[in-house]
Amino acid sequence: MNFNSHTDAVVAVAVTLVNTLTAGESRGRPYAPPSGEERTAAVSLAVAPGASRSYEVSAEQAAELAGVAEALRTVFESVAAGDIDAAAHHTNRLLAETDARPHLDRHDGEPWHVHFHGRGGTLAGDWAASCATGLAVVLGSELCDRLGVCTAPHCDRVYVDTSRNGTRRFCSTPCQNRVKTAAFRARSA
Ligand SMILES: [Zn+2]
Repeated sequence: MNFNSHTDAVVAVAVTLVNTLTAGESRGRPYAPPSGEERTAAVSLAVAPGASRSYEVSAEQAAELAGVAEALRTVFESVAAGDIDAAAHHTNRLLAETDARPHLDRHDGEPWHVHFHGRGGTLAGDWAASCATGLAVVLGSELCDRLGVCTAPHCDRVYVDTSRNGTRRFCSTPCQNRVKTAAFRARSA
């Protein structure tokens, strides 16, 4: 997808937060999100993919983002169910709750670019606001149906379809392969 690199990156973080922090099923197995220090570590990793510096995330902030991840999941599920209206309402609520507000920033030798700050000036608050804004940008575009939930059996991990033709149906290659293998077995039976 090509909104801009910042939006793409933020939406990717939203996907990671949902898939890491919400319970359900993953790739054919029950999935329980991490807790305690494992959750804090997972959140630090999720909000700084490939970053040169690591972010300090507190247990409270990790807990806050776990709550945000549940709200973000609802948006993906609404789109997957074909209910863009519900997705938009959920996203608007999240924008209000996170107090998302745009702010031009310039750091590390980069040109001016828009960041989304949230309530409290915390990392968790800023990421919650950023993720809500990222989904809002997607939902407000012609690519609004690109948010999805894996259609493989026993998997409810989410994804954003960045393919050119928008035909993605699975969270991952393993899920795609599971479905392909099952279909092949069914045909040869
Ligand atoms: Zn899957």
